[in-house]
Amino acid sequence: MAAGAPRLADCRACPRLSAFLDAARDRHPDYFLKPVPAFGDPEPRLLIVGLAPGFHGANRSGRPFTGDYAGVLLYQTLHAFGFASRPVSTAADDGLVLAGCRITNAVKCVPPENKPETTEIRTCNAWLRAELAALPADAAILALGQIAHKAVLMASGLRQSAHPFAHAATHRLPDGRRLYDSYHCSRYNTQTGRLTPAMFQAVFARIAKDQENGSCPSSPSSSPAA
Ligand code: SF4
Repeated sequence: MAAGAPRLADCRACPRLSAFLDAARDRHPDYFLKPVPAFGDPEPRLLIVGLAPGFHGANRSGRPFTGDYAGVLLYQTLHAFGFASRPVSTAADDGLVLAGCRITNAVKCVPPENKPETTEIRTCNAWLRAELAALPADAAILALGQIAHKAVLMASGLRQSAHPFAHAATHRLPDGRRLYDSYHCSRYNTQTGRLTPAMFQAVFARIAKDQENGSCPSSPSSSPAA
């Protein structure tokens, strides 16, 4: 980024979220408590977009999906598909490396009760837009959950109605990129069976197959995965 450009680490554009971080600093002096940057390969063939840092996960460790339950299925699956050097992500300095994959969140600061407000999603969308702009042209995007899906469309300047969210759906975007959807791999979704390991792996298998074929899904622009 050019000299003088705003830095994610300094961002305080959302007053409620910045105040929430400030208020937590005394109670958790060892926590990261800043906007959590993306993690992984700077030239990925797959960008994974989650919702927001978990309070005791990414907000503690400083790395997306690291240190709490939300990352368990994600990193297991990334390892199984050759993206992660190990299947468990415990801390920012645990030595885990991502190859061909990068992970970010729609909202970079932890929100109270894991619920960002609409204005915060919109405000933080500028950072996601910059991340999408920096992606290689043929990179795929995987949205974990509806909020991440909507944030990707917003950052791409696309209408939500043209690409409705559905688990295992694939969307061909006007720039030729593919957007894949999955239910979020949260503790709630995985423990209730809304998202099983097999369902999650099937989404990754579809992405891998499309990338092997080097082809975008055919029309219509939004379709369920096979
Ligand atoms: S959520 Fe995003 S826009 Fe809001 S303060 Fe954090 S980094 Fe800045």
